Amino acid sequence: MNYKFNENHRWPEERIRQELQRLDKFTGLNGNALPIKFTYSSCTLGSFNSRDKKQWFEFSRAYMEDPGTPDQVSVDTIRHEYAHYMDWTVYGNLGHGPTWKKCCDEINTLSVRLYNPAIAQHYRKLHERSEANTRLCAGYTEGQAVIHEKYGTGVIRSVRDVKEDRMLEVVFENGQTKTLSARWVHDHCRT
Ligand SMILES: [Zn+2]
Repeated sequence: MNYKFNENHRWPEERIRQELQRLDKFTGLNGNALPIKFTYSSCTLGSFNSRDKKQWFEFSRAYMEDPGTPDQVSVDTIRHEYAHYMDWTVYGNLGHGPTWKKCCDEINTLSVRLYNPAIAQHYRKLHERSEANTRLCAGYTEGQAVIHEKYGTGVIRSVRDVKEDRMLEVVFENGQTKTLSARWVHDHCRT
């Protein structure tokens, strides 16, 4: 996508949001709805943050408002942080792992193409799936009873989260301990 870079190279909130909006249009996500906090950090250009169920972006005015910062650096910073938002939203991951790199690739690939509704739909679906998974797994916690067709009644002793699922260690009344996936229990057991 071609940018009409303005002359002073400054990126106030309004301009950052224009870029977020553009990225949202490609992915079908809603990154522009997040708050933006500004810092004056000289070592961190930007960050995506997720704490206590709240998400927000941070950008450093020391760079974004500095006429000496090339526009490409500002755009790259916004995209880098947007990829973190996308990775967290679609895959539930933070950090610079394989899914984050995949998000970066998608953003850079998408950004040179025209808006594609099918791709936006793809990300919306992935996001919905990951949210449904999170809701499903949250329903299985320690101490909860599980009724298994073959082993009878059991109690969840511990849980361990894995990608898109939760492993439940269940102690059954017959003394047996089984590790079952929350998705499997959801489909096959009563609670
Ligand atoms: Zn990063």
